[in-house]
Amino acid sequence: MSDLNKLTIAGARDALAKGETSAVELTEACISAIDASGALNAFVHGTPDMARQMAAAADQRIKAGNAQPMTGIPVGVKDLFCVKNVPSQSASRILDGFLPQYESTVTQNLWDQGAVMLGKLNQDEFGMGSSTENSVYGATVNPWKLGDGVARTAGGSSGGSAAAVAADLCLGATATDTGGSIRQPAAFTGTVGLRPTYGRVSRWGVIAYASSLDQAGPITKTVRDAAIMLGAMASVDAKDSTSAERPVPDYEAALTGDIRGKKIGIPKEYRIEGLSDEIDGLWSRTAEMLKDAGAEIVDISLPHAKYALPAYYVIAPAEASSNLARYDGVRYGRRAKLGAGDGVVEMYEKTRAEGFGPEVRRRVMIGTYVLSAGFYDAYYNRARRVRALIKRDFDQAYASGIDAILAPTTPSSAFALGSADSSNPVEMYLNDVFTVTLNLAGLPGISVPVSLDQQGLPLGMQLIGRPWEEGELLNFAQVLENASGFVAKPTRWW
Ligand code: GLN
Repeated sequence: MSDLNKLTIAGARDALAKGETSAVELTEACISAIDASGALNAFVHGTPDMARQMAAAADQRIKAGNAQPMTGIPVGVKDLFCVKNVPSQSASRILDGFLPQYESTVTQNLWDQGAVMLGKLNQDEFGMGSSTENSVYGATVNPWKLGDGVARTAGGSSGGSAAAVAADLCLGATATDTGGSIRQPAAFTGTVGLRPTYGRVSRWGVIAYASSLDQAGPITKTVRDAAIMLGAMASVDAKDSTSAERPVPDYEAALTGDIRGKKIGIPKEYRIEGLSDEIDGLWSRTAEMLKDAGAEIVDISLPHAKYALPAYYVIAPAEASSNLARYDGVRYGRRAKLGAGDGVVEMYEKTRAEGFGPEVRRRVMIGTYVLSAGFYDAYYNRARRVRALIKRDFDQAYASGIDAILAPTTPSSAFALGSADSSNPVEMYLNDVFTVTLNLAGLPGISVPVSLDQQGLPLGMQLIGRPWEEGELLNFAQVLENASGFVAKPTRWW
């Protein structure tokens, strides 16, 4: 078989089972693809030796007849997952040199199934950003390049994961979504990104950004692959107090293709001012596709959705300022060089000033401000009350019989690297207008590539599911994937 790195997870699994290829061959194909992908800056720490060992072990396991769905499947891992003895620095200078001495539950689950570790993937520092430009490793470049030669963002914060999957450097990748970081990069790269219900996947060993919003999930080439990979990543984990005590169902078995009689809600508040005709048209066309498959399309209202973005940009920095207090130059990573006479306060100040990038410093300052005694009620508590109302809106929609909600993933296709005005950070935050709402409500969501825009760049649509119903959500997503017939791939230039 040739071009093994271009296989889907399902395709590779079936080829491995039939003996048409081996995990070692698959892994070598991915390692060669990664070696030739420097211009994308997606992989930031390769682990080829580890990959070769794990692939050989996977082949033994397949021969012995006890393969699981991810056995022998080469994957990439977002930098913020701790992998034992592999650099894991959440794309931050402050974690320079940090080698975790333990394994995140998600990666452990993948290795237990026999998946193969190819290396660490680029991201925005601590997950803060929507373009992977806030990274100590430099920006990831979207594999989708048009005739204009412009380097575009692969989205963020999981831009490395999305670019790597879109460019066939790996068969699937882990990612995290605090406010859209799985779904938005997936939409920008023509890949599938699934953020599970909060509590479905363990956060243990995932370098924290905002703990009440963080959730890990897969970025893959197809919806079926997302079902397979989520099944391997999810678990009930005593090491994470917010991990839900719910058995992990067989997500692939949920892909029946039958959505007859299901109700899909179209939230009117997502039809924001200035929404392009192109995205609006795509929204109507995809609703029509679900209708043709037998679903009922219902207009719904989520009255507080319009407050989601401001509430998110209070709550996420508040939690970040607290989570990031641990980086003090003492316990992990990098410590600033100190001058004669510098004491412990100077050490904290210098270490944090040079260890954190500008966006992280901004979030720490915003977070500290909104949590300060004088402003706690005006900002943080108010945002928490808004969050409760947003959740109630969704609860009411689902209680009225809605099975899933359809909305755009992003307000535009991938924008050019360097095009955001750094003096106006809100411009970047506005990219998250369609994604953050579900994080505040703890719900699962998936972005499915459905079309190319007029320029020839991928666009994704988002489906939001009922809590714990990822199987049903994946089934809707697969119906949309089939109906839209999206199969475009970026032309190789790297
Ligand atoms: N862009 C959002 C932020 O910067 C979301 C990031 C994420 O989901 N990690 O906070």
